[in-house]
Amino acid sequence: MTGAELAAIRKAAGLSQTALAKRVGIGRHAVSYWETKSEVDRRAWAVDRMAEVLPLPDIPRITRPHAGWADKLEAETKTREAAFRAQVSKWERQQAEAAAKRRVRCGAKTRKGTPCRAKSLPGKRRCKFHGGMSTGARTPEGIERIREAQRRRWARWKAERE
Ligand SMILES: [Zn+2]
Repeated sequence: MTGAELAAIRKAAGLSQTALAKRVGIGRHAVSYWETKSEVDRRAWAVDRMAEVLPLPDIPRITRPHAGWADKLEAETKTREAAFRAQVSKWERQQAEAAAKRRVRCGAKTRKGTPCRAKSLPGKRRCKFHGGMSTGARTPEGIERIREAQRRRWARWKAERE
């Protein structure tokens, strides 16, 4: 749209430059400015105001090359985000693997009263003698002791219910 075309549209609408300016709340000079331009920028603020009362063409859509560029940028951003997330989960996996293999000083209290100096089982805090491999009581006395403790716990629980 040229400035001359804009002027023609305004005149066809029966509006003077001043009348148009007043109707849409812009300065009269803004109207005359755009009407003298060889190309009217449809996206300009004053022109967009004029479009409220004049049948101006719609704001031109972004042309194909620009749209393609935006799509490419979006795709690249998504690729980078995916790569970052993959890197983070790799670090997390490596940390979990390292933690599963980590061996620390057991430190459990021994019968002598000193901290156990053996290395813990991989990924555990205690050595194989101090709980790391415990699968429960083995001796008849040990088994009976556990049973008795559980009976007492059960009785306490029942008593609290009643
Ligand atoms: Zn130990």
